[in-house]
Amino acid sequence: MPNQIRPQPGIMDIALYQGGTSKIAGRDDVVKLSSNENPFGAGELARTAYQRAGLDLHRYPSTDHASLRAAIAAHHGLDAERIICGAGSDEIITFLCQGYAGPGDEVLYSQHGFLMYPISAMAAGATPVKAPERERTTDVDALLAAATERTKLVFVANPNNPTGTMVPVSELERLADNLPPQTLLVLDGAYAEYVDGYDGGAALVDSRENVVMTRTFSKLYGLGGLRIGWGYGPAHVLQVLNRLRGPFNLSNTQLDVAEAALGDAAHISRSLTENARLRDWLAERLNACGVATDTSFANFVLARFASAEQAEACNAALLADGLIVRQVSSYGLPEALRITVGDESACRRVAHVIAGFMEGQG
Ligand SMILES: *Cc1c(COP(=O)(O)O)cnc(C)c1O
Repeated sequence: MPNQIRPQPGIMDIALYQGGTSKIAGRDDVVKLSSNENPFGAGELARTAYQRAGLDLHRYPSTDHASLRAAIAAHHGLDAERIICGAGSDEIITFLCQGYAGPGDEVLYSQHGFLMYPISAMAAGATPVKAPERERTTDVDALLAAATERTKLVFVANPNNPTGTMVPVSELERLADNLPPQTLLVLDGAYAEYVDGYDGGAALVDSRENVVMTRTFSKLYGLGGLRIGWGYGPAHVLQVLNRLRGPFNLSNTQLDVAEAALGDAAHISRSLTENARLRDWLAERLNACGVATDTSFANFVLARFASAEQAEACNAALLADGLIVRQVSSYGLPEALRITVGDESACRRVAHVIAGFMEGQG
């Protein structure tokens, strides 16, 4: 009998997500700048909490995450009742797609948007739809023009990955206010902490019924390996998401370490200061040798080359020096390389290799 076991329609069309590479064969001095990780790692308080969590491995975790939600609410000035925590913001994105989009529905995102949006949309049976950007920046008019009566979700990362650009809150407001009535706007704030004075869209969530915000501990807090993120939305959305969330979706370790990380003001402040200083320095060095960048609001820089071939060759030069950055052709940017802002020595190595490479380009 031939195998008659078949998955749901569309599942096999999903392109597998490619994570940032972390190894080069035969080298042990590799610097990974391909996943926007905090070069200083997790903070002292998070590491201590991680060790302490080892004593409680036999205990089931809290199912309502009350303690972490209260800490997040206090830290950001939010309503704890409308926070949901998940295994990375990826899990919140998955819940949103499961909860609001299915076969026949459209999930809208922008041209160079995060690839988890189409992946999660397709996993829910929905159709991902891309709207163009303007100069590698979210274009609210294009998103509004692409929204139809089938659009259930719109994802906007602000700042965006892999471009590093962002739009002002007034533009997000205009988007929220002009979407069709059945459409939920999701503001992905994975890099919001890096923008001084930006609340990630929290005030928009509080003043509207059609806006949700997602956040993560993976970037500024240096906890990408722990898998912890959260969402903030109107009460009616939380009612839905909480029904999709498994009762034990987060371990004691995830909950305790994330809470400790929130309280580590010294680590947060050092990470922000160093990122801003080295990001500006790196962009300037790249520009000086003829590599264009847009002003980045996040912890990475998108370096643009003359062609896909030149970007490819520069990537090879970086790899030869043990530096792993991210090729972003899957994001529609084959002529660019996304470079995470590392520590000072990593940034100097990157600038040195790229300057040498560009010199050889004549
Ligand atoms: C890194 C990133 C995330 C965070 O994903 P986690 O699942 O929280 O690790 C979300 N959105 C964007 C745009 C990102 O770049």
